[in-house]
Amino acid sequence: MLVLGGTDEARRLAALLAATAGVHVVTSLAGRTRRPEPPAGQLRIGGFGGPDGLAAWLREHRVDAVIDATHPFAATITANAADATYRLGIPFAVLRRPGWRPGAGDRWHWVATVADANPLLPALGRRVFLTTGRGDLAAFAGRDDLWFLLRTVDPPPPPLPTHHVLVTGRGPFHVDGELALLREHRIDVLVTRDSGGDAAKLVAARRCRLSVVIARRPPLPDVPVVATEQAAVDWLTS
Ligand code: NAP
Repeated sequence: MLVLGGTDEARRLAALLAATAGVHVVTSLAGRTRRPEPPAGQLRIGGFGGPDGLAAWLREHRVDAVIDATHPFAATITANAADATYRLGIPFAVLRRPGWRPGAGDRWHWVATVADANPLLPALGRRVFLTTGRGDLAAFAGRDDLWFLLRTVDPPPPPLPTHHVLVTGRGPFHVDGELALLREHRIDVLVTRDSGGDAAKLVAARRCRLSVVIARRPPLPDVPVVATEQAAVDWLTS
């Protein structure tokens, strides 16, 4: 089995599969994170070289099934995997954690991409907490009318917004810590993506009555989708 990874659920899935008799699991990482936690089973790191490269790798390693457990915003690898497995006739499913939904009192503004948050700012506030992917930060680089708190796992490459403070950290985060961060930096508005999972920052934003600009997920290809690691194992073994 090949698990396309880079998420906590991919690690949990690899652990379940590695403990399943007769299953040999390989997790693939893109190689973006400096010190990834090694998953159970085998690990390979680095791009495949597009759908053709992935198809060649699947054939060479005689892979029986592929589960995409990548991040909801890693749309290219998901599309490549759908393409390569379709061509080879290999079963393929996506493991996707559920997205977030607003609760009572939330002031959420949905946008198609993180960059689309730009025109909504600064009407929503001038001190912005940006918790997006590293690749989205450049969309705000031209702005010097706003102040940004940036949070990424590893330090991001330039270009970055003119006025910013960077904090690095890997979740899970906790509501008390998120509240302290919002208050310390006098944040007006949170800009994030509908990643799902750990929602501490959204709970903290609700408590502080902050506006939230939230980017929708990219669409998935027309393939089976499961929401939990166990459902992925059931799909593989059914
Ligand atoms: P992406 O835009 O969908 O993929 C870009 C390229 O990176 C792909 O074409 C592929 O290169 C390579 N790649 C991506 N995931 C891979 C994997 N699991 N194994 C081998 N190659 C992979 O992906 P991304 O947004 O850059 O994210 C990269 C990885 O980081 C993903 O695996 C994802 O799970 C993880 N991650 C992403 C985010 C995020 O915000 N996007 C957040 C947390 C974790 P080739 O075409 O050469 O095969």
